[in-house]
Amino acid sequence: MTVHPIAARARVDDILSDMIHAMRLDHWRVDVELGAVDDSGHLLGEGVSDPRSRHVIITIDSDLHDNVKEIGNTLRHELLHVLHASFQTYRRACSHGLKRREDDIVEEVYQLASEETVMGIEAMLDAIGLDAETLAVKGAVLRSARRWPPRQREGKAS
Ligand SMILES: [Zn+2]
Repeated sequence: MTVHPIAARARVDDILSDMIHAMRLDHWRVDVELGAVDDSGHLLGEGVSDPRSRHVIITIDSDLHDNVKEIGNTLRHELLHVLHASFQTYRRACSHGLKRREDDIVEEVYQLASEETVMGIEAMLDAIGLDAETLAVKGAVLRSARRWPPRQREGKAS
């Protein structure tokens, strides 16, 4: 079973900004695209981030998801990677002076560590009931709490 791209887009648009807020990623520009991630047809999603410009492009393959709840959790997974994107800067710095084969090994270890970290955080979030949907709701609550009480305008008319 697959999720229709329109339903997937609607889910992403519905929860993205609140999830970003809940995860304190407001300083990032997050673009989400729908489509195939790789040729193998196994990856549910992927994020390509640039920590310097704080921009990430997340791609989600809606054909590989059974329902929109899973779409949300893939989005959560990719946003968790963004939380530790600054380690990519460190990873790239490690490339200098390495031969191709050495760099491939360092990259493989880095990717493994990155996935294990994200999966550990996902397990913790699941254990406390913070799926993508709930995370978005928490983000919306946090956002509205910051707006309350509304700020007084200066130079009040009398
Ligand atoms: Zn991952």
